[in-house]
Amino acid sequence: MIDLIGRTEPLVDAFRRPITYLRISVTDRCNLRCVYCMPEAGLAWIPKPAILSYEEIAEIVRAAATVGVRSIRLTGGEPLIRRNLERLVAMLHAIPGIDDIALSTNGLLLAEQAATLRAAGLDRVNVSLDTLDPDRFTAIARRPGLDRVLAGIDAAIAANLGPVKINCVLMRGTNDDELEAFAALTRDRAVHVRFIEVMPVHENVDMQAQAWVSSDEVLERLGRFGALSPFEHLHGNGPARMFAYAGAPGTIGVISPLAHDYCERCNRVRLSADGRLKLCLFGDHLIDLRTPLRAGGGEEAIVALLRGAMHVKPERHHLVLGETSAAMRAFSEIGG
Ligand code: SAM
Ligand code: SF4
Repeated sequence: MIDLIGRTEPLVDAFRRPITYLRISVTDRCNLRCVYCMPEAGLAWIPKPAILSYEEIAEIVRAAATVGVRSIRLTGGEPLIRRNLERLVAMLHAIPGIDDIALSTNGLLLAEQAATLRAAGLDRVNVSLDTLDPDRFTAIARRPGLDRVLAGIDAAIAANLGPVKINCVLMRGTNDDELEAFAALTRDRAVHVRFIEVMPVHENVDMQAQAWVSSDEVLERLGRFGALSPFEHLHGNGPARMFAYAGAPGTIGVISPLAHDYCERCNRVRLSADGRLKLCLFGDHLIDLRTPLRAGGGEEAIVALLRGAMHVKPERHHLVLGETSAAMRAFSEIGG
C-alpha cells in the first residue's frame, strides 16, 4: 500500500520490532581519543572517497522515510568535525516523514555551531561528558577541552536543542567517584544525565572488565544522594531508565547495553560513514548501500535492501562482560 506522500509498508524485522530509527555516522574521525573508544594513534580511517556525501546520505534517508523511518541521529566519530553539517541537517529536515533529528557529539565544537544547527532543523543533542574535572577530562579523552564542552552544553540549552542529554561512560576507579557531582548537575541545570555501562571494544577489553559498573549499582549509589522518582516522559529516551530528584530541573538515569531488554526494544539500524548498514550495535551484520547507490540504483534499490535487512537483523547482540570478538567494534553509537 502506498499513501499520499509515497510511503509504503513500514519496516518490521523478523522479531516483530518496528524499525523507525536510523543512526548515521557522518565521519569515523574524531578530535578526541577517549580511552574506551579509540587508540591514541587513531584508527585506520576510511579513505575520503568512500565517505558518503551529504547528497548520498539524504538519498538513503529519503528511501528509509518511505518505509517508516521517522527519527535520525547524526553521530560519528565526531560529527561536528565534518564541514557544514548544518547543510545535511537542512536536507534531512526537508524530507517528508522525518520528524526528529538528533545529534550525538563530544561537545567540543558545539558552542560555535548550536544556533546554526538549530536554525537548519536540528531538534536536540546528546553530549558526551565523563567527568567534571579538567585534568581527568584530559586523561580520559587524551586531549583537553572540558571548558569548551560545558560551554557547548550551555549553548545547546540556549539554542533550544533540548532535552539536552549528557552521556557519561562510568568507569570504576576512574570517574565513579563523580556520581554525586553529576547528580548535583541535574539539580542545577535542565540536563538529563545518563550513565552508560562501558562496553567491550578492541581497545579496551581488559579495561572494560575491570571498570564496568552495573546500572543497578549506579542507581543504588545515586539513591544515597536523595530520593529518586521514576521519570518516564523524556522525549527520545530510547533504552535509558530515567529518574529525578525532587524539584530538580534535570533527570538522571542509566543505560545498560549488556542487559537483554536493551535488544528486545531495539528499533534502530545504523549507517556507517562509508555507507554500510549495520544491523546491530555489535557484530558483523553489514549491508553495503554505497555500491548500489553509486551504481544509480536509486530509492527502489535502497528500499529493497532495507526490506531484505529485516530478515537478517539479529534478535540480540552476544556481548558478554570482558569479552569481544574480532568483528566487534562499538565505534559509533551507544548512548542514544
Ligand atoms: N563523538 C561523539 C560522542 O562522543 O558523543 C559521537 C560518537 S560516540 C562513539 C557515541 C557514544 O558512544 C558516546 O556517548 C560515547 O561515550 C559512547 N561510547 C564509545 N565507546 C564506548 C564504550 N566502549 N562503552 C560505552 N560507551 C561508549
Ligand atoms: Fe571521539 Fe566520541 Fe569516541 Fe570519544 S567517544 S573518541 S569523542 S568518537
